[in-house]
Amino acid sequence: MSKTEFKIEGEEQTVRLGTLMSDLCVPYAVKNSKSVLIFLEGDLGAGKTTFSRGFIEGCGYKDIVRSPTYTLVEPYDFDNYSIYHFDLYRLLDPEELEYMGIRDYFERTSVCLIEWPDKAHGLLPEADIRIALSYSQNSRTVVIESSVLSQDEIDRIASCFR
Ligand code: ADP
Ligand code: MG
Repeated sequence: MSKTEFKIEGEEQTVRLGTLMSDLCVPYAVKNSKSVLIFLEGDLGAGKTTFSRGFIEGCGYKDIVRSPTYTLVEPYDFDNYSIYHFDLYRLLDPEELEYMGIRDYFERTSVCLIEWPDKAHGLLPEADIRIALSYSQNSRTVVIESSVLSQDEIDRIASCFR
């Protein structure tokens, strides 16, 4: 398991972090024809949606990235992969995940960005990458943990912000 911790200052750095992560994760998903699960952890206002916007824009998406709060998931289809942006904040009953056929999303060549994974109460598979954001007034502390990215890869990301 690789792990790193660093600080990012200002919204633009959170967007940039998302873009840098997409540069690593999308090629990995495509090369292995798998779904990469990224859990985004942190309180309201921590920057989970901002990170997701940077990630999705990093894939070349030019339109407005909307928060999927009311729909639970917002899909973004590209030529040979998809990004599924989940926000489970309003999930009342984890059974809803079964009704929406959540397992299908994890079987496609995709990256699944999941805000509020705890709301699924264990109905999700293990994360490939966990990103925890914690709030300070003008900055955020980021902890990245991953079973699929090497220590070198995540250290290189951290060094962009030091
Ligand atoms: P969440 O999805 O976790 O609830 P959002 O991304 O919607 O959070 O909102 C985060 C808020 O914090 C936005 O107002 C954004 O401008 C701000 N923000 C994001 N990243 C940083 C940062 N690194 N430093 C300071 N403010 C940030
Ligand atoms: Mg959000």
